[in-house]
Amino acid sequence: MSIFEVRHQHRAQQIVQRALAGGRLPHAYLFHGPDGIGKEMLAERLARILLCENPVHPPTPPIEELAGFDGPLLDACGWCQDCILAQARTHPDIHLIYNELHKLHPDPMVRNRKGLGLTVDVIRHFVINAVGTKPLRGRAKVFIIRQADRITAGAQNALLKTLEEPPGTTYLILLVTNLDRLLPTTRSRCQAVPFGPLPIEFVTATLQEVVPDITPELAGLYAAIAQGSLGTAQRYCQDSLDAYNAKIIDTLGRLGSASVPPIAKQWLKDAETLGAQFRNRDKGISDTEALRRGLKTLFCLAATWFGDVLRVSVGAQQSLTNTAQARQMTGAGVGARQAASAIKAVVDAERHLERNVSTQLVVEGLLIRLARLVPVAPNPDNS
Ligand SMILES: [Zn+2]
Repeated sequence: MSIFEVRHQHRAQQIVQRALAGGRLPHAYLFHGPDGIGKEMLAERLARILLCENPVHPPTPPIEELAGFDGPLLDACGWCQDCILAQARTHPDIHLIYNELHKLHPDPMVRNRKGLGLTVDVIRHFVINAVGTKPLRGRAKVFIIRQADRITAGAQNALLKTLEEPPGTTYLILLVTNLDRLLPTTRSRCQAVPFGPLPIEFVTATLQEVVPDITPELAGLYAAIAQGSLGTAQRYCQDSLDAYNAKIIDTLGRLGSASVPPIAKQWLKDAETLGAQFRNRDKGISDTEALRRGLKTLFCLAATWFGDVLRVSVGAQQSLTNTAQARQMTGAGVGARQAASAIKAVVDAERHLERNVSTQLVVEGLLIRLARLVPVAPNPDNS
């Protein structure tokens, strides 16, 4: 379970290896970037190196991201007791801090709270106080804070001193998707490490390795709409997003000749069902936010479809996302200019969602714009 299994995070791997090689690892790291691209995996593998009894030096860079790296590389041995404990996720000196941790708080008042996330009580008990104790296995202590952008402002203030000067063998790694949600004082006390989206080909190939029976077409679709996030693409598999995709494509095909309100109603209903699935996994989001995320996903499917229509209209059939529906596309009668305008309409609608415009207005407005661009579609079977 090597740190080099984290792929395509060129800058993050370089920054971490350079710090390890120079013996100047900062005590507080801020790993930032989209969800599901390897931030937690790199944090966890770094923790293993810090706790391993006999860290190893691979003689040559094992991955192309580190080709040309001039310093010594470091990795956990994978065999010592610390590595075995870390791999089993039972190492007593790796502290994973996450949103639902309040349920393990000794105070029943804190335990019974709902949806407050990483509050002062939680951060004080599980981080600040725990930092002050000795590592149980002697070497070091590593705190990995998931979704650290959800630490409340009060808790961030309480954490400042710990971030600034933790005891010598304590390391904190904050994982965030949105840097702007952190206080500037928190940001300035950590070294920021950027993570970027993964290549779509890599996400497609990995999905085919880890998801049983997934077709290459479906893996490609999920990878494309997950925008470089392997974690998101895997969740799309669980959510059976292909069924929603089929419905979106069907309604877009009918838009030219159907009335908008029933289609808008269906999109909103689907977004709600999808949002409820997101919320089951992430209790920290509100119903409104869940609906908005559901809608954004549907918008993304629509934009992907129009992206394909655009490719077909310029003769680039070889790089389609919805390969199975290519035939329907050629019969859609939408030209390159209309497809590009449709994509812009979807992007505008997404922007309106961000600005908290009523979801019904956003969906109806988008569908009206799209209906003007999509001609009455001929039946592809007759063409
Ligand atoms: Zn080891």
